[in-house]
Amino acid sequence: MKNPTPYQLAVYASLFIAGAVALVLSILYVFHFLQISFFWIPMVSLLVFLVSFQSVKRVLETYIYRKIKLIYKSIHRSKMKSDDKNTNVDLRTDIIDEVEREVAEWANDRSDEIERLKSLEAYRRDFLGNISHELKTPIFNIQGYLETLLEGGIDDEEINIPYLEKASKNVDRLHSIVQDLESIARMESGKLQMDFQVFDLKVLTTEVLDEMEFKAQKRGIALQFKEGASKPYRVLADRENIRIVLVNLISNSIKYGKRGGLTQVGFYDMDTFILVEVADNGLGIPEDAVPRVFERFYRVDKSRSRDQGGTGLGLAIVKHIIESHKQTVNVRSTVNVGSTFGFTLKRE
Ligand code: ADP
Repeated sequence: MKNPTPYQLAVYASLFIAGAVALVLSILYVFHFLQISFFWIPMVSLLVFLVSFQSVKRVLETYIYRKIKLIYKSIHRSKMKSDDKNTNVDLRTDIIDEVEREVAEWANDRSDEIERLKSLEAYRRDFLGNISHELKTPIFNIQGYLETLLEGGIDDEEINIPYLEKASKNVDRLHSIVQDLESIARMESGKLQMDFQVFDLKVLTTEVLDEMEFKAQKRGIALQFKEGASKPYRVLADRENIRIVLVNLISNSIKYGKRGGLTQVGFYDMDTFILVEVADNGLGIPEDAVPRVFERFYRVDKSRSRDQGGTGLGLAIVKHIIESHKQTVNVRSTVNVGSTFGFTLKRE
C-alpha cells in the first residue's frame, strides 16, 4: 500500500505486535514451557492487538497533531484553540497528503500576494515619480518668471505683464494637476460614490457641447451630433460623472484636433445599453500608443499635451468613471486620420 492512513498504520503495527506475541506463545506452548490451555493464546493475542492498537493510535494522534498544529500555526494566521486537542485529526483520512496540499495552496497564495505587492509598490513608485515630475515643470517656470521680475523685470514694460500672465498660467496648470490628482485619489480609494439616476444623454451632451463651443471655435473646430442622434437617449448613470467623461473626451478632440477639423458625437442603441462615440478627424494616435492612452500620465506628445494644459490624467479618470458604472471604454485611432473614443452606458 502506497500511502497508508495513520489509522491503517496503527492496525498494521498492532497486527505485527499481536502476531509476534502469538508466535512466541505458540512456540512456548509447543515446547511445553506454558502450562495453560491453547484457548488463551488467541485470547491474549487479541488483547495485545487491542491494547497496542489503542496505544499506537494514541501515539500517532499526539505526534501527528503536534506536527500538524505547528504547520497550521505557520500557515494560518488564526490561532488553533488549545482545547481542540485531537478532535481535528481524523486518522481515517490521508491527513499528511491533505496537509501537503494545503501547504502547497498556501505557498501559491503567498507568491501571488508577493507579486501583487511588488506591482503595487512599483506602481506607487512610478506614481510618485510622475507626480513630482509633473509638479516640477510649472513650479520651475513660476520661479523663473518671478525671479526675473524681482531682479528688475517688473519695471520693464515689455515683459512685466506677459511674465505675470505666464506665471498665472502655470499656477492654473498646478491647480488642474492637483484637481485631477484629487479625483484619481478619490476614485482609487473607492470613496467615489456613484449617484445613479435616469437622464437624457442628448440633453447632457448638448450642455457640454455648448460649454466647449468657445474653446472649439478658437481652434477652428466644429462640434456637432452625428446624424441620427436626434431622439432622446435615456440612460441610468451618474450624470455629473458622465459630464466629466464627455468634457474630457470632447476637450481632447479639440486639443488634438486639426484647424478646420470636426468633432462628432454619436449615440447607438445596442438593446440593453447605449454606445456613445466621440469622433474627431485630428492628429490620431500611433498604433503602439493606443493601448496606453488610458494609463495615468501617459501622453503621446508630452509638449503638445502640456501646451494644451493637459495633465495626462484625463483618460485615466474617464476609464475609472466608466468602469465604476461596470461599463467599458475603448478607442480606435489612425495617425493623421483621427480618433474615435467610445463608451457604453446602461439604458433605462
Ligand atoms: P492629456 O491631459 O495629456 O490630454 P489624457 O489622459 O486626456 O491626457 O490623454 C492622454 C494622451 O492621449 C494625450 O496626451 C494624447 O497624446 C492622447 N489623446 C487623447 N485623446 C486624443 C485624441 N482625441 N486625439 C489624439 N490623441 C489623443
